[in-house]
Amino acid sequence: MDDRQRLRYSRHLLLNEFGEEAQERLLRAHALVIGAGGLGSAALMYLASSGIGRITVCDGDRVELTNLQRQIVHRLDSLGQPKAASAAATLAALNPDIQVEPLEERVTPERMAALVRGADVVLDCSDNFATRHALNRACVAARKPLVSGAGIRFDGQVTVFDLRSAGSACYHCLFAEDAAATEERCAVMGVFAPLVGIIGTLQAAEAIKLVAGIGETLSGRLLLFDALASRWHEVRFARDPNCAVCGAQSVAAA
Ligand SMILES: [Zn+2]
Repeated sequence: MDDRQRLRYSRHLLLNEFGEEAQERLLRAHALVIGAGGLGSAALMYLASSGIGRITVCDGDRVELTNLQRQIVHRLDSLGQPKAASAAATLAALNPDIQVEPLEERVTPERMAALVRGADVVLDCSDNFATRHALNRACVAARKPLVSGAGIRFDGQVTVFDLRSAGSACYHCLFAEDAAATEERCAVMGVFAPLVGIIGTLQAAEAIKLVAGIGETLSGRLLLFDALASRWHEVRFARDPNCAVCGAQSVAAA
């Protein structure tokens, strides 16, 4: 770190649990963020301002007026632009120290596997089950920590699957793939703007802790937030030994 970086990150360096070594780890880290919507907006802003050295952001959508109510990484003058490029421009203006790679595409499972292999930490800020399960499979295969978040109406949830450890549960252990599951979309159900900011910010906090190697993460704990009542609820969960994605048989088959 040079003197200007020591100044920029000084409030991290002052933390006993953080210090220069953890900040250096952040600057060397590569985060993959799938989705530059409401969750991704908040997560990306904090990852970038905190000095995560390299961020890959994937989103195949373009910025619409209805997004600006909660997707704070995008600006009015980004309307019509790809969300990935719009997010990258905001982050570059915030912190030119870091490298941001925008991918303006809906990634295929093969592409996702390659992207995950190159990352140190993965944030699921997507809005659909197909992407969530594909991303989980890639993280299980590559043994990468996955920070998962979701938010709809006034209800949010966040957890960590630290797949670097063999005993960790995966997304599929907790939420099995169900063809009958109905997708709840913000465009239909609505979403309280600060909710996705709160959950996305927690995702950034967990990702930063995973990279820095500090504290206790949400691995094995699902945090649920009711924004209408301002109440948090915690549910513990364990790995499913018969899980079709991370269970003994599926791992042996792979
Ligand atoms: Zn599993």
